[in-house]
Formats: sequence, structure tokens, C-alpha cells
Amino acid sequence: MRTVFQGHLLLFIWLINLNTIIMILPIIGYGDPVLRKVAEHVPADFPDLKETIVNMYETMYNANGVGLAAPQVGKAIRIFVIDTTPFSDDDDLDATEQKQLNGFKRTFINAKMIKEEGEEWCFNEGCLSIPDVREDVYRNPTITIEYCEEDFVMKTEVFDGLIARVIQHEYDHIEGILFTDKISSLKKRLIQKKLKNIIEGKTFQEYRMKFFGKKGR
Ligand SMILES: [Zn+2]
Repeated sequence: MRTVFQGHLLLFIWLINLNTIIMILPIIGYGDPVLRKVAEHVPADFPDLKETIVNMYETMYNANGVGLAAPQVGKAIRIFVIDTTPFSDDDDLDATEQKQLNGFKRTFINAKMIKEEGEEWCFNEGCLSIPDVREDVYRNPTITIEYCEEDFVMKTEVFDGLIARVIQHEYDHIEGILFTDKISSLKKRLIQKKLKNIIEGKTFQEYRMKFFGKKGR
């Protein structure tokens, strides 16, 4: 009897944990000042760190993204998560790169970009905080970055290709930079109206968002 009861109790606790831990968070839209802050260093005892990371992954998957930074869920802290698997079935890539992208899932805490090198290449980028806007962005192909994962052991690693590209985009977020800052002034003018609509929440996307300039929010 006692074991059955304990079993039920454990299941109950597990369900409560699931309910409290996994949450899809609203994604902060372009125009909110939190996206412009240089994010803060994360101490190992940061409250609800595990929950924050789990929620960030769930929020990213729910929006079909390949990366998400903490400021995009309203927290100006130096964390971003990446899973490049959706890029792995791109037929334009060679088999080696497809294999690298498939299952590349990584949490970056307190990242610091050490080096970006190689001849800049262009890729059409988008951002979950800036729905319906895509632009070509030039970046270096190879990066050296220092960061830690959830074990808080600092390491230095080199990445290239699309994985580096996603890391560069997310790293920019924790520095308060958006991909739209990196396009020509002509292109910036052309997307002004779209950006204004996003600030005011006049946009449609299939995931929950929070808009800075939406009346009655
Ligand atoms: Zn982004």
C-alpha cells in the first residue's frame, strides 16, 4: 500500500513540476527597450535558472526558431539557446554541414566573443522578435567564443558556417544589437513601416508576442 501511495505522490509531484517548469513565454517584439540593453552577467546561483532555460527552449521550439536570447523573453541576462536542427534539411548545404547542424543544441551562458574572422558572407536572416522581416546580413564565417553551459565551466570554442551565423545573431541580442541594425540605410528605410507596425502590435504570427507600443496591453 505504502509503495503505491508513494508512487502516486511522486507522479503528482512530477506533474506539478512539469506544470510549473515548462512554460511558453511571450516573445518580446521590436521596439521594446529590453532588446536594446547590454545584458547582465549570470551568476551560477541565479534564481530559477534551470526553469528559465527550459522555458526558453520550449518558447523557441513553439515559434519554430533556431535560436532565442533571454532579452527576447524579457530578461536582460547573458543567456541564449540554439538548436540548428531545422536548417539540417536544407538541400543547398553539403552533407557534412547538414550533419553538423542536425541535433546541434547548445545553451550559451555568459558568452564573450573573442574573434570573428574570414571573408564576410551574406545570409538572409530573420528574428522571432521582428516577424515578417527578412534581410541579407553580412558576417564573418568563423568565430571563437568563450562561454559556459549549465555546468558553469568556462570553455573556448571555434564555430563556423551556419552554426556560427546563428550564434552571432543571438550573441548580438545579448549586446542589445538586432540584425536590422546591420543592413543598409536604404533597406532600413524600406522596412520602417513594418517595424512601426510591429512596435504597435499590428502584425500576425503564430506564436505569442508582447508589444511595447500596443495600446491597452
Ligand atoms: Zn533574433
